[in-house]
Amino acid sequence: MARLAQTAGLTDIQREILSTVRDFVDKEILPVATELEHRDEYPQQIVDGLKELGLFGLMIPEEYGGLGESLLTYALCVEEIARGWMSVSGIINTHFIVAYMLKQHGTQEQKDHFLPRMAAGDIRGAFSMSEPALGSDVSAITSKAVKDGDEYVLNGQKMWLTNGGTSSLVAVLVRSDEGHPEGTAPHKSMTTFLIEKEPGFGEVQPGLTIPGKIDKMGYKGVDTTELIMDGLRIPADRVLGGETGRGFYQMMDGVEVGRVNVAARGCGVAQRAFELGVSYAQQRHTFGKPIAQHQAIQFKLAEMATKVEAAHAMMVNAARKKDSGERNDLEAGMAKYLASEYCKEVVEDAFRIHGGYGFSKEYEIERLYREAPMLLIGEGTAEIQKMIIGRRLLEEYRFQG
Ligand SMILES: Cc1cc2nc3c(=O)[nH]c(=O)nc-3n(C[C@H](O)[C@H](O)[C@H](O)COP(=O)(O)OP(=O)(O)OC[C@H]3O[C@@H](n4cnc5c(N)ncnc54)[C@H](O)[C@@H]3O)c2cc1C
Repeated sequence: MARLAQTAGLTDIQREILSTVRDFVDKEILPVATELEHRDEYPQQIVDGLKELGLFGLMIPEEYGGLGESLLTYALCVEEIARGWMSVSGIINTHFIVAYMLKQHGTQEQKDHFLPRMAAGDIRGAFSMSEPALGSDVSAITSKAVKDGDEYVLNGQKMWLTNGGTSSLVAVLVRSDEGHPEGTAPHKSMTTFLIEKEPGFGEVQPGLTIPGKIDKMGYKGVDTTELIMDGLRIPADRVLGGETGRGFYQMMDGVEVGRVNVAARGCGVAQRAFELGVSYAQQRHTFGKPIAQHQAIQFKLAEMATKVEAAHAMMVNAARKKDSGERNDLEAGMAKYLASEYCKEVVEDAFRIHGGYGFSKEYEIERLYREAPMLLIGEGTAEIQKMIIGRRLLEEYRFQG
């Protein structure tokens, strides 16, 4: 089943890592994913297995105990994991974004303090920009930090934190007007704070409450929460990078690599949907032959496979561009947009191929059908991707007349 979504030019190490992850997915994730998902149960055993494989430290530099691998290796692992169960890739995704932001923007003390334990999976990361009144429009953030001696006092409500309950480190973006004159652009007066906390729900430390899990249509197992800061005191040395006013750029940098990651998830879910569809089409008979022998169904399979290939190629291209040190916002935006739209379409076609059985919870495609829509929203909706793509195109193709 490995004919689709091949990646040329991988090193022996990359191939070895991917084969280990695929094996883990086939043996440890796929057999239990749907059952756990239906129970909305956190996949602790799977997470322990990922920890053992070193996946929480995949991109963390070796000097901090990680594997020091590239974005491409990471994205290909995410694709494999999402093929097994998208929620599991969600568990490592926010961790990966926070580790990446620390690596790129943290002070030396912050890197030394967090990265080795993040590489081991002992500290797990979540990131928080969204609030109840905003998601796309990050510049409208109202949560606020005010300096008080050697500390900052944080107030405000955050929304939609993936791994909000299970994480022990949250990178939170808030407004911090201190040091920024009246009239400073909103994105220049935002700061990322590194908040250490106990995993769990309720008031996890004075001034910080994680109310409980949001009940979602899909993407179950992984917890998504609100976060309430009410006079939360954070030491000044937990400002990411040590300087206020840089938070917006730091988060956007994190989300940019996160987009490649969401594209990879779309590729993984679409691959699994194709596998389910092509398998079912050869088993189900109508009008005296397997439905795969009806041309309409073959055309569906052809379209699905083409979309799987195209999304994979764009995702790999976006990851490689970042790994080469070049700006990749255009490629990442395109890959995220295309892979999530194609994923939704491939899943829907696989669902249709299953006929009535696709509607039954006994069939895996039912789970995929509820999971795919999240990819259309997370790390920026399709409209936001198109805004990024459009702006970059106009920069590249500026009218010279
Ligand atoms: C399961 C889940 C997990 C999440 N995890 C996290 C997380 O870990 N951390 C985090 O910070 N956030 C997280 N989010 C939040 C997510 O990033 C936002 O939901 C997303 O950015 C969209 O924001 P919104 O929901 O406020 O929609 P809105 O911004 O209110 O948008 C509503 C609609 O309007 C469209 N729209 C908005 N502005 C424009 C425009 N200028 N032009 C055209 N159309 C526009 C949007 O595309 C969308 O269709 C998560 C969301 C979900 C569902």
